[in-house]
Amino acid sequence: MKAARLEDGTLHIRDVPVPVPGDEEALIRISASGVCHSDLHLARGDWRGVPRSGTIGHEAIGVVEALGPGAEHFVHEGDRVILGLGGAGGYWCGACEYCLRGQPRHCKETKGIIGTFAECFAVWAPSLVQLPDTIGDQEAPLACGGLTAYGAVKKLLAHHVLPGRPVAIIGAAGGLGHYAVQIALAFGYEVIGVDVGAERLEFVRSLGAHLAVDADEAIDVVQREVGGVDASLVFSAKMAGFGLGLKLLRRAGLFVAVGLPATSEGNLELNPFELFMLDPTIIYSAVGTVQDMRELVDLAAAGRVKSHVSRVGALSDLAVIFEELEAGKYTGRAVITDLTR
Ligand SMILES: [Zn+2]
Ligand SMILES: [Zn+2]
Repeated sequence: MKAARLEDGTLHIRDVPVPVPGDEEALIRISASGVCHSDLHLARGDWRGVPRSGTIGHEAIGVVEALGPGAEHFVHEGDRVILGLGGAGGYWCGACEYCLRGQPRHCKETKGIIGTFAECFAVWAPSLVQLPDTIGDQEAPLACGGLTAYGAVKKLLAHHVLPGRPVAIIGAAGGLGHYAVQIALAFGYEVIGVDVGAERLEFVRSLGAHLAVDADEAIDVVQREVGGVDASLVFSAKMAGFGLGLKLLRRAGLFVAVGLPATSEGNLELNPFELFMLDPTIIYSAVGTVQDMRELVDLAAAGRVKSHVSRVGALSDLAVIFEELEAGKYTGRAVITDLTR
């Protein structure tokens, strides 16, 4: 079968053996795999210490083709499924302190899902979520981009930011941000989308955001309109977006970091006196749980969350798509819908 591999940062399409599903694993024939910005970060070596070789791709929709021993308890041949959980949590033990606390990402046994830019992929069957036919293959980015946004918005509830309250989404037109706008609206928040440039702001408005503001004007507009937000969700890949997220908060607000800027972007600066004055709660949110994936699939099935896909292609287009993403050629996501060539 065909599969994309990074070898020292260079992308190759190789012929490799079809994997054999192990215990409790299902073999999935991939029908679509989304191109996530983290694939590009990996290829470009943007994160210090993360290897630039190996299989890639982690957001996919496919059909169960074969079952390993025990997998029949979770899925059946022919089931159409989404491979949720992105780069963390394709397997978890279910019994450690983190798993029992609902944070399987921190489980020592966690294995990521990585390698879905391939015709087939073997995955731990309990992590699969069934898809209704009303959700098309182009919704594959829900598996990481959508799930990551869902996990971040859901944390607002855990930190007592109530529906109806104003929240800022920084990077609102982006691959994750555009999901967060839709999900936060579905949860009932007053959504202030922050991005850069008229075209991107128009897109944020089209998603139904109550306000769409340019990053340059965000502090003034947010102060004037709502006197500061209860929470900032930062999806930006730039450190400036993180700084802005803190400045938009009202006192004792919630700061949810989601983006992962390149190491070269440096560090987030925090001044202790400002911390004393502002008293923010600062958390990070990465991917989500299988239960989050199920809830997001329900929202998508109800038509309340949709992926904005600007480009589809075949496996052999991947290198070109990386270049297009790097050049910021389109606002939405790219999805590989033909894994056979
Ligand atoms: Zn991703
Ligand atoms: Zn565990």
